Amino acid sequence: MASYDVCVIGAGPAGFAAAMRSWDFGKRVCLVERGRLGGAGVHNGALSSKTLWELSCDYRCALRRDRGYVASDLQVHFDAVMQVVEEATGSKVAQMQRQLQALAPRDGEPSRRESPGSIALVEGSARFIDAHTLEVSGAGTGESRRIHADAFIVATGSRPRSLPDIEVDGQRIITSDHIGRLARFPRSLVVLGAGVVGCEFATVFANFGQTKVYIIDRAERILPFEDPDVARVCSTNLEAKGVTIHHRAKLVSMRVVDDEVEYTIEHHTGGRETIRVEIALVSIGRAPNTSGLGLEDIGVKLDAAGHIIAEGTRTSVPHVYAVGDVTLDVALVSVGEIEGRHAAELAAGHTDRPLRHDNLSTIMFLDPEVAAIGLNEQQAQERRIPYRVAVYDYSLVNRPIAMRATDGFVKLLTTDDDELRILGMRALGVHSSTMLEAVSLMIQYGRSAKELAELLHPHPAVTEGLQDCVRMLMGTSIYKPCVFQSELRLSRIGYAEGTT
Ligand SMILES: Cc1cc2nc3c(=O)[nH]c(=O)nc-3n(C[C@H](O)[C@H](O)[C@H](O)COP(=O)(O)OP(=O)(O)OC[C@H]3O[C@@H](n4cnc5c(N)ncnc54)[C@H](O)[C@@H]3O)c2cc1C
Repeated sequence: MASYDVCVIGAGPAGFAAAMRSWDFGKRVCLVERGRLGGAGVHNGALSSKTLWELSCDYRCALRRDRGYVASDLQVHFDAVMQVVEEATGSKVAQMQRQLQALAPRDGEPSRRESPGSIALVEGSARFIDAHTLEVSGAGTGESRRIHADAFIVATGSRPRSLPDIEVDGQRIITSDHIGRLARFPRSLVVLGAGVVGCEFATVFANFGQTKVYIIDRAERILPFEDPDVARVCSTNLEAKGVTIHHRAKLVSMRVVDDEVEYTIEHHTGGRETIRVEIALVSIGRAPNTSGLGLEDIGVKLDAAGHIIAEGTRTSVPHVYAVGDVTLDVALVSVGEIEGRHAAELAAGHTDRPLRHDNLSTIMFLDPEVAAIGLNEQQAQERRIPYRVAVYDYSLVNRPIAMRATDGFVKLLTTDDDELRILGMRALGVHSSTMLEAVSLMIQYGRSAKELAELLHPHPAVTEGLQDCVRMLMGTSIYKPCVFQSELRLSRIGYAEGTT
């Protein structure tokens, strides 16, 4: 039986990062993967969907008629688009393979370069036999082998969640895993679920302009975790592309009839409506990949939905760590990678620093993109934190003006004191994600927003909107809220004493 210092199960972003960090410590690592290298971070997930999104935004831009040029005979074919997506994901897999080949164990030879460690990739599906032994069954071969390790890092990720009364057949009723299997752009598509992934796919298909898109949203507004002003603009933008959003609608049934998808919704008024579409995309969240791993048998605690319960990355079994989507933490590539690295450091005895999730930044790939970090107004008010907020419209910022893309705004929240420490930011508009890095550093180190006020920014850049937002909070902005009353907003939110 092969024996390793660390065995990582799953070669998505979390597992890959864990394996690489373990190698830094000179560990002999085994990385087990049952599917494709990269997991959902590459295939049917982050990278593939973002490639689709980029292409759809390019196409949408090429269709515009207000830019001094008019594209003629513009054509788009789903299979050609998917080929580009394959090229993107293929290039990432090739990089991962190249590194794994370079770091693979070599007979009798010490491992390469600066670490004495090695990483062996083992293909197959892993299952615990006992607390230190895995059985790995090869896909389709029926062959299995056993692996012993001192420490295990479980990074088996997640899969689309399904509903008991909706049969996902992968043809007409699909999940994000099946997008690549579509033969062409559907004529019509309903997205069940108005969360981030659902809204991103609605944006992609609406941008390509070949598909009538519907979204079924149980709540009053899409993206209910975001402030109403952000959600409102996102909704309006989707509707402007022809997307129909069924707000406050309950799905009564969804099934395949005559090779089409027939779905019935109940509006909040009680009225029922039945619509037929070519394809339904079920996008109602993700479920952890833990069944069949034998985790409970070795004492690893799971919650009712099957997520591994972890404190930081430590599970209830001291030498077993859990990272990425398989835990209850936010399901993002960045979170998975940080957790993977952290678990590898713990397993190597090299850290006892706590894992921080409070400075999480995200991008929602809508059109335009939405960047988020720290608290929004809704969260600050729920926690009864007094704050100041400045909102700066993109129409006053030169880069968006030059791009002819002034749809958007930056919203900055700070503490309601002289220090003006940044609590959070929401930015909606072209390049808005470029503002995240600076704000993230400021939040991480508890710095005052004032430090941004006199930085020499490149020009033109959308970050200038953020800078003038800070100046607005200090009463020193170049553009004055008393003049641009609809474009600039400055507010102070406090709470009456004695109220809860
Ligand atoms: C449509 C979509 C869009 C997304 N967009 C973004 C985005 O823009 N930004 C972002 O940060 N995140 C995004 N995400 C989320 C992101 O993809 C995940 O958070 C990330 O991939 C999680 O990484 P992971 O390593 O935990 O799991 P995964 O990426 O799911 O990898 C887990 C791996 O484990 C393997 N595995 C499972 N069980 C076993 C077993 N028993 N034995 C061996 N191997 C096993 C799987 O085959 C898989 O390769 C998106 C997700 C989806 C679905």
